[in-house]
Formats: sequence, structure tokens, C-alpha cells
Amino acid sequence: MRVLIVEDEHRLAATLQDLLALEGYTADVCHDGEAGLDNAESGIYDIIILDVMLPKKDGFSVLRELRAWGSTTPVLMLTARSELSDRVEGLDCGADYYLTKPFEPRELLACIRALSRRSPELRQTDEVSFGDLTLSKGSFSLACGERSVHLSRKEFDLCELLMRNHTQVITKDTILLKIWGYESDAEDNNVEVYISFLRRKLTHLKSRVKIRTIRMVGYRLEESD
Ligand code: CA
Repeated sequence: MRVLIVEDEHRLAATLQDLLALEGYTADVCHDGEAGLDNAESGIYDIIILDVMLPKKDGFSVLRELRAWGSTTPVLMLTARSELSDRVEGLDCGADYYLTKPFEPRELLACIRALSRRSPELRQTDEVSFGDLTLSKGSFSLACGERSVHLSRKEFDLCELLMRNHTQVITKDTILLKIWGYESDAEDNNVEVYISFLRRKLTHLKSRVKIRTIRMVGYRLEESD
């Protein structure tokens, strides 16, 4: 699961990032409202933690624009202000939860868990199925009938992304951001290499599922008859 932290207090942002990393979440940080909105609109985040008082664009405006743009990503607002009117404004703008600083790390993590449970696609299930394939988190394995193969971490993440979103074409940019992250200098050919690894494993499994290349766009899983 990938979390976006929009917080201008660098120390707090770094603490949050570490805290989330310990729980197994990947978190990216932005320090102003404009960068926060740009990143949030990429659509790659499962949850957004958004401060209210931010340089360039305040958290309420970021949230309003994000919702107007059509994003339904759960947003947890984080602020030093505890006035009732602020909380009401935040919720009216489309925040899913409101947490007042200072907060206990345990409380923040409980909020994140609650928000991730709300959306069925975010529910951390141990198994994902598509066609004749079953992907298992515990064992990092991909199975088809009696056959099973072990996947590397990146192969697993890529396979999970494609299986959970099998109705859509997944672009190379989305794959790069979701699997490699913003900080990475990975390029399109890294994606191509991992797609070929996965294809080899699907062939080995004799699966009916294929990774179809949509030229100039990306990839989609397909089940052949
Ligand atoms: Ca702030």
C-alpha cells in the first residue's frame, strides 16, 4: 500500500514516513500544497495524509480540487488546529478522517488501518485470483492448478498490480511509480524486463492468462479460451 504525506514540517513528515515504513507501507512526502495536489492526482496512492496549513496551497483547497477532479482516494487530514469549524470544513471538503496534532502514533496507524479497510480494493487480502491464477502473499508464490512458482518482490508487486486491476490497462508510468517509486531512476525498459520475467513464469505455469501489450499505452491481463 502506498501513502502520500503532504506536510510542510520536515521533521514530522520524516517521522510519519518512518512510522509508516515500519508498518510495511511505502510513503512519499511532499512539502507544499501544489506538489501535494500534483502527486495526489497521479492516482497511485491508496491513502493521502494531508496537513491543513501548507505553503502555496492550503490543505482544504488541495482536498476540494482533488475531489472536484474526481479522486475518491481516502484522505486523512492532519492539523494543529482543533477548532470545530476547521474540522467541519475539512469533512465538508471531503476528508475521510480528521486528526489533531499532537497525536499518538498508535492513533494515526489505527486511522490508516480503518481507512484501508473501508475500500474493498485496499483490503489487504492474502490471496488474489484471476482466471486460473492465484497469487499468495504469505509464500510470494503464483499458482495455476497443481503448478506453482516463487516470485521475487518486484515480480510479486507487478503481478498483484495487474491482477487487482485486470479490467484496466496499466501504463508503464503507473507501474514505475507504484513498483519503483518516485525516488527511483528506473525506466521503461526495467518494466519491460519484469513483464518478460512474469510472462516466462506464466508460460511455465501453463496458465491461460496472458499479459497483453497495448502498444504505446501499457499492459493488461487477458484470459484466453
Ligand atoms: Ca503545516
